Amino acid sequence: MRVEQNKVVMMHYKLTDKDGNVIDTSEGRDPLAYIHGIGALVPGLEQELESKIKGDKFSTVVQPEDAYGNRDEELVRVVPKSGFQGEEEMTVGMQVQIDTGDKGLAIATLTAIEGDDITLDLNHPLSDMELHFDIEITDIREASEDEISHGHVHGAGGHQH
Ligand code: ZN
Repeated sequence: MRVEQNKVVMMHYKLTDKDGNVIDTSEGRDPLAYIHGIGALVPGLEQELESKIKGDKFSTVVQPEDAYGNRDEELVRVVPKSGFQGEEEMTVGMQVQIDTGDKGLAIATLTAIEGDDITLDLNHPLSDMELHFDIEITDIREASEDEISHGHVHGAGGHQH
């Protein structure tokens, strides 16, 4: 069986930046399970996984355009602190959930506090970054109809409901 649309893929992964700093890894945990071809992973990585088989190990470098995109300064906003829950506890670096209106709920990083104003950065924390992946595919199976309609994997490495 090969990795293709609507297959559940289990894999161990290590994500590092271009200097070798580990950003995320499945080491010491269960393999990550995802449904291929529905946009669960960044496009550049899904492309590399296409047609691979169980047991395949590979490394790949994904450019920002095929990952979390390039930084957009328009996504940096200064807004009043009031109106946020727990405003007293706000600290620089924390993640805040905001309602963007047209694009629904989004996660922003709080990058500055000045008086009653806070600066929120809606860029993905990994935008502008070249992503280095080490991948090992540990299993591939068909996705069930439920999994496809839910858009996520059930059971090992996925949702337990
Ligand atoms: Zn589900």
